[in-house]
Amino acid sequence: MRLLIMGPPGAGKGTHAGALASLVRGPHISTGDLFRDNIARGTELGRLAEKYIAAGEYVPDAVTDDMVRDRLGQPDAARAFVLDGYPRTHAQVATLDALLEARGTAVDGVVELIVPDDELVSRILRRSAVSGRSDDTEDVVRHRLAVYGDQTAPLLETYGERGLRHSVDGTGSPEEVRRRVERAVASASGAGA
Ligand code: ADP
Repeated sequence: MRLLIMGPPGAGKGTHAGALASLVRGPHISTGDLFRDNIARGTELGRLAEKYIAAGEYVPDAVTDDMVRDRLGQPDAARAFVLDGYPRTHAQVATLDALLEARGTAVDGVVELIVPDDELVSRILRRSAVSGRSDDTEDVVRHRLAVYGDQTAPLLETYGERGLRHSVDGTGSPEEVRRRVERAVASASGAGA
């Protein structure tokens, strides 16, 4: 299965994408992690992305699309994957559609995690002590939420129209959310069968 996990910053995408990846037996591909890994290694891609990420802005589509194309082209992602943090813009949706269509495949389901804004901000600020992320300060977090609302939240409607959207309440214990996410994926695989 080829799944997307979507939701605002702090919704728990990374945590639940990891569990989903074992379920579908494919890699967990996080664009945020790929960027941070490139920044840590001092690659050219990392240098390009760094200032956008620190400011809570999206990295330009052309840069992000190339990175995702490369990663999805690797053999471990041929049959299944969980894509976390991509697509985030309409243009990225079109790129992903074309990329998968060229291989005769498509997205099988989109899991949306819903968490109220106030809880998102407090979660991120709580984890900022350990995350060490330059973009986990209150101002930048609020900006990331605004950018998400403008550019990414509308994409959920696109996937909804395709019958692929599975919305999950992302509040409560990680265990409760995990069970809801698994139920959503079970219904996504049922629909695709
Ligand atoms: P979060 O969802 O908490 O904002 P991520 O780790 O997914 O965290 O992303 C961190 C940052 O990486 C984003 O704020 C953005 O700057 C950049 N980024 C990640 N994915 C994309 C993408 N698909 N398009 C553009 N920028 C991205």
